[in-house]
Order: sequence, then structure tokens, then C-alpha cells
Amino acid sequence: MKSANLLMSNLGTTVFEVMSALAREHQSVNLGQGFPDDKGPQEVRAAAAEYLMNGHNQYPPMMGIPELRQAVAEHARRFQGLSVDWQTEVLVTSGATEALGDCLLGLIEPGDEVVLIEPLYDSYLPMVRRAGGIPKLVRLEPPTWRLPREELAAAFNDRTKLILFNTPMNPCSKVFDHDELDFIAALCLKHDAYAVCDEVYEHIIFDDRRHVSIMTLPDMRTRTVRIGSAGKSFSLTGWKVGYITAAPELMKTIAKTHQFMTFTTPPNLQWGAATGLRLADNYYSTLAGDMQRKRDRLANALTDIGFDVLPAHGTYFVTTDFRPLGFNGTDDDFCRHITVEAGVTAVPVSAFYDEPARAPRHFARFCFCKHDETLDNAVDRLGRHFRR
Ligand code: PMP
Ligand code: GLN
Repeated sequence: MKSANLLMSNLGTTVFEVMSALAREHQSVNLGQGFPDDKGPQEVRAAAAEYLMNGHNQYPPMMGIPELRQAVAEHARRFQGLSVDWQTEVLVTSGATEALGDCLLGLIEPGDEVVLIEPLYDSYLPMVRRAGGIPKLVRLEPPTWRLPREELAAAFNDRTKLILFNTPMNPCSKVFDHDELDFIAALCLKHDAYAVCDEVYEHIIFDDRRHVSIMTLPDMRTRTVRIGSAGKSFSLTGWKVGYITAAPELMKTIAKTHQFMTFTTPPNLQWGAATGLRLADNYYSTLAGDMQRKRDRLANALTDIGFDVLPAHGTYFVTTDFRPLGFNGTDDDFCRHITVEAGVTAVPVSAFYDEPARAPRHFARFCFCKHDETLDNAVDRLGRHFRR
């Protein structure tokens, strides 16, 4: 028999699925895959439930229901000062994952170069490659994860079609500062490249930092594609509702890709997401404040146990160096070890690199978007195990 597409058939199973399956098998406290314990805002779930029972449960418009597209545009104005035309510049997708696929398959021509920043979210590279893009990887180095400007500049040239990056950044919890975004924007302008910015954690940001979308920088409005997710903003990761904002010229092709990928997203969940995007400012500040307290709770407790915990400026995650505990294996070994022996699951950070064998092998990522009792239980288990 002929073989299937080799690029896809040679992929492994995503680390999130692997580690969550292992967590289930060993009934460990799962601080691996990022999903909140919280149920999400009551009014958002109620709106979706009401729409499910009494609304129009047939194909919504291909671009998304008007109420959600309008809410995405209003939200962009409220938080980023962006003026967005909801009819031509907003597309609803089945999660940010589909949004990424639509953008990459829609924008990349085979042979185009694509600049990416390591460590990177696990869907980026396979989709860039499947689109025929040639990845140009630039690495951030712990513990500061500062943007290496010379290397970034060297990764760009006139064959660069786009840069794809993520801020606040999973897994290393970096938030790109204004200067770094300016630097990236200048490279995009110099080389006529697009910026595809995955901003799913735009509201999960700490210590009085403010999320800045690269779309707001001078001359970037028409060459940026901004991606958001209701899963992250409303603690409803299973809903898989995402949204793309882009200038009409870019959006046309992205939407044509979306029409043959999923075509639409469940209308009741779109209705719920629209309700969420219209929640008052204090919903968003409370979300960030709660997550920040959870970050501190977990980070302090892991530090007490002996982990070297790296700073986390946003997202659901803390990166930890486990070598001070005396563990000498790889990050894969460590995450399996604590799942099986301590009853707590984390994710190995090398999974966020193109070649895990050439990545740092001493970091585990722990997720803190959990009830305090869940975090305390995990910490108790780790404490008992490592203080034996
Ligand atoms: N990008 C990043 C950086 C993420 O962490 C996630 C996490 N789930 C996604 C995209 C995908 O979001 P969604 O669940 O909306 O597809
Ligand atoms: N974004 C989540 C994480 O980093 C996982 C999403 C998924 O499982 N696809 O943990």
C-alpha cells in the first residue's frame, strides 16, 4: 500500500495527550496539560446553555455569528485601542488551534521561510511544515528568555513570509516587552513579512504588566494576524472557540482556508463566548489576579521543596529546574517519575523544541490554573516524595 503523508505519519502523539493519559493511568494530580479546575463564568455557561435549548442550532454563518464577531471587535477596542471592522476583519474558528492552521495553510507558499521562537507551542512546527514553510528557529535562553536580537535579525531575509510567535508565551511564561515587539515589527516592515501573533493568554498576565498586541504598533495593523481563544479567557478550554483578527486582504484567504477546514463552530458556544467578551473589566482583572495568586502559591511551595522556579510573567504555567532535587535524568524521565512515584504530573519542556535531544533537558512545566486544594495536594505529594 502507498504510504500516508510522511510528515504527519512520522509525528508522535502530542505531549499533552501523552501526559494526561499517563496521569489518568496513575491517578496522579495532573499539573501537565493546561486546563483550569474552575468551571468558567456562570453567565457565559448560562448563555450557551440557553442558546442550546432555545436558539438556532443549525449552521451559523461561515465567518461566525455577528454577535461574537462584534464582541471580538469591541473587545479589541476596549483592551488594545484597535478599531476593527467586525464584518471584514474578524473570523470565528474552532479554537486557536484551528485559527493557527487556517493562517499557516492560508498564508504560506511552499518554500516560504517562517521565523519561529523556541521553545514553541507544539502545533506550530508541524503545521508550518505541512504548509510547505521552511522553519527558521530562534532560541530564547533561560532563565531570562530574552529576545536574542542579532539572531532574530539574522533569521529574517526577503524570503521570510511571516513570523509566528506567542505572547504571553507558553511554555516559558515570558511576556514580550514593548521594545522587543518594536524590534520584531521593524524586521517585519524591513522584510515585508507578516506577524502571526498567538495571544491566547492576553488576559493571563501578572504583576501589573499589560498585554500589548503587535497589531497596535505603527504600520503593523495591516500585516498582523491576531489570534485569541475563549478557552483561555473564560476558563473553558473544552469549548474550542477561537477568533482571528486581520486586515481584509489577509482575512480573505484565511477565511477561505477556514471554510474547508471546519466551516463553522457550534453556535451556542459562539453565543457564550460573545457574552464573555462583553463581561466588565473587573472580570478580567479578577481572572489575572486569581491566576497570579495561584502562580505564587505553587511557585513558593515548589521552591520550598527544592525546585529552582523560573519567573512566570503570564500564562497558566511555571517552569522549574529539577536538578537541585538531585534528579539526574532527562525531563521526560522526571515527568514520568513524578507521575508514577509521587502521583503528580508535569510536562517536559523539551517537548516544546524542534529537536528535544538538542533542547535543555532539566525543566518541567507545572500548571497552576487549579483549585488551591489541587495545588496543595500536588505539593504535599511532591514534598513527601522528595523529602523522604
Ligand atoms: N496556542 C497556545 C500558546 C496554547 O497554549 C494553546 C492551548 N491550548 C492554543 C494555542 C490552543 O488553543 P485552543 O484550545 O483555543 O485551540
Ligand atoms: N495549551 C495547553 C497546554 O499547553 C494544551 C492544549 C492541548 O492539549 N492541545 O497545556
